[in-house]
Amino acid sequence: MIALIDSHSHIDTAEFDADRDAVLHRARDAGVTRQIVPAIALSGFPKLRDLCRAEAGLHPAYGLHPTFLAEHRPEHLAEVADWIARERPVAIGECGLDFYIEGLDRDSQRVYLDRQLELAREFDLPVILHARRAFDDVAAAIRRVGGLRGVVHSFSGSEEQARQFWKLGFHLGIGGPVTYERARRLRSIVAAMPIEWLLLEETDSPDQPLSGHRGERNEPACLKEVLDCIAQLRGEPAESIAATTTANAERLFALEKR
Ligand SMILES: [Zn+2]
Repeated sequence: MIALIDSHSHIDTAEFDADRDAVLHRARDAGVTRQIVPAIALSGFPKLRDLCRAEAGLHPAYGLHPTFLAEHRPEHLAEVADWIARERPVAIGECGLDFYIEGLDRDSQRVYLDRQLELAREFDLPVILHARRAFDDVAAAIRRVGGLRGVVHSFSGSEEQARQFWKLGFHLGIGGPVTYERARRLRSIVAAMPIEWLLLEETDSPDQPLSGHRGERNEPACLKEVLDCIAQLRGEPAESIAATTTANAERLFALEKR
């Protein structure tokens, strides 16, 4: 069995405090030997760093998540830069634009995103992007800064938007939502897209439970179900999808090849 990489897990969050060891154990038993763990807000960076130092196979990314705008301050951006310079994470993120949640100031979100994209270019790191109802705006920001690479996590846009991201050098992160039969547009994109731009390995734990697990806490061990779903949609063996997408993640995040 090919070792899988969950490219988007929030295993550091409080939802896992009570039983994190068991969750990590189940993940490894399911073949999920590595996880990329993107930050949410500056206040969580020390815990994220300590967890990733203590557990083999957990790789942090540092950034300011748009949904948590109320927690960010402009001066946090300089601190993000310091953390990146000091810790040399595998990526910058989670950052982006969320135009779905009401009451999140769009201009302020753009200021945080633009600076983090500039940091990604300065440090030559990939970016983990959150985009909700904002795919075109996120793509415009990527284009404006230029010279970037990364992943648009939990992609849910149109085929045209998908194409514009991989033309810009961005992967699409595909997770739990693809397992829902009613996600027709997403499923047809996943069935036909170039596999080199697909990071199936993301579950966004504890969010985004899979079909059949609604209302439950998601966890990285569920990644195998996402893999099987994508294999079925594409009519290809799960082993080959696993091998290619693991290699994609290793390349993007400059992880050791296994
Ligand atoms: Zn996330």
